[in-house]
Amino acid sequence: MINIKDLWNEIMLTLETQMSAVSFEVWIKTLEPLCIAGHQLVLLAPSVSAKNLINKNYKNIISASTTQYNSTLSGAVIIIAEEKDFYLGLQNEEDKNSDPKPDEITESVFNQKYTFSSFVIGKSNEFAYAAAAAVADAPGEKYNPLFIYGGVGLGKTHLMHAIGNKIRETRPNLRILYVPTEQFTNELVDAVRNSSDRDFNREFREKYRNVDVLMLDDIQFISGKNGTQEAIFHTFNDLFQNNKQIVISSDRPPKEISKLEERLRTRFEWGLTADIQIPNFETRVAILKNKALSHNIVIEKDVLELIAEKVETNIREMEGLLSKVVFFASLLGKNTVTLDIAYEALKDHLEKNKAYVLNTDTIINAVCEYFKLTKADICSKKKTKDLVEPRMICIYLITDILDIPLVTIGEAIGGRDHTTIMHSRDKIAEELKTNERIKMIVKDLRSRILKT
Ligand code: ADP
Ligand code: MG
Repeated sequence: MINIKDLWNEIMLTLETQMSAVSFEVWIKTLEPLCIAGHQLVLLAPSVSAKNLINKNYKNIISASTTQYNSTLSGAVIIIAEEKDFYLGLQNEEDKNSDPKPDEITESVFNQKYTFSSFVIGKSNEFAYAAAAAVADAPGEKYNPLFIYGGVGLGKTHLMHAIGNKIRETRPNLRILYVPTEQFTNELVDAVRNSSDRDFNREFREKYRNVDVLMLDDIQFISGKNGTQEAIFHTFNDLFQNNKQIVISSDRPPKEISKLEERLRTRFEWGLTADIQIPNFETRVAILKNKALSHNIVIEKDVLELIAEKVETNIREMEGLLSKVVFFASLLGKNTVTLDIAYEALKDHLEKNKAYVLNTDTIINAVCEYFKLTKADICSKKKTKDLVEPRMICIYLITDILDIPLVTIGEAIGGRDHTTIMHSRDKIAEELKTNERIKMIVKDLRSRILKT
């Protein structure tokens, strides 16, 4: 079954790049996906006037994107609340008449923007790119599983979608399933909850084992989730034995995923492991140049360089700033984004950096933001794993960046003894020699603290 919300979200991603930010905010975002009826995606508009305006100006582009994402759909229809019952009725009729095909369960929708050709290759990602391309050329034959790892916003999901898009194009008969690991866990929980007999997860099992290519995104989420690990273990074995391709992504290498069963860890390492690193300045500019093409506006080179300079470690964040300057220029009615406009648009962002004071609090805040924790968490006496490591990293960064006494740092981190501070500092310093993940985090955080 098509998940209508997911489908609409994907379509919106394309629409966003094809119209002005204002139109997108004001018109497209108010639409609510209702159902699929008569091979059309049914979208609910908030009022009659909105419906009329959208029909007049955006219907074609919405329909085109809909068909692009799912070729079984012939387009979109915009309706208002009064028409809801009619379309829902239509949908029910269709559901009754069509017997479910098992194949339908296993079809993933891929983002058409995430292809190999839209992926900019640099030193930081060329290996991962080549590995992904090889897998897309010969699924199940060469590198199985393919395990891609790297920091947030560096292109893991992009590469997985690129594999999906490519295989869909070259081998349309293969069944490809892409799932964020969190969704896999949720589905497993639902399957267990809705069980009436021992065969509770037959449907779940069939869904995941009847595929030719299975892609699990962000596998680090299975840390400590024993049920999910068990399910993935069996799924993995089944697929692997039948030469089906498995692609996995993670924010860290297998050996650094904590609370992971050994039998899974070794399996993840059976095939090829490829990492994606932080792109250098030239690659960042090249990526921005590429993204700039999808905005219908000229963006000066200096602007791209300004953004590439300000954001080093997360491409998604760079794209965010790019959208911001484009949006700003469109509000001003300009057809070129100049450096002046960019400075104006990014004023808050840039000024924040200028008036930036470096002290224990700014470092604690940066660490909190990074790990999604609060200052109270960092300062607390709790020794849970999710707190201990961020806390030690925080302490290490403070000792490393600020030239202040250990006692003062101890006071700032919830009144700790200076020996504790020393221990944390040394522990992380030691980890940095061998632990790639910690290295990546510290590097990332350091650049955020010192530059952003
Ligand atoms: P991750 O899954 O690693 O967190 P994503 O794949 O979601 O990151 O990438 C974040 C954004 O950056 C996406 O919009 C993606 O298209 C873009 N991106 C990342 N790397 C590249 C690249 N090498 N070339 C072009 N775009 C990239
Ligand atoms: Mg991702």
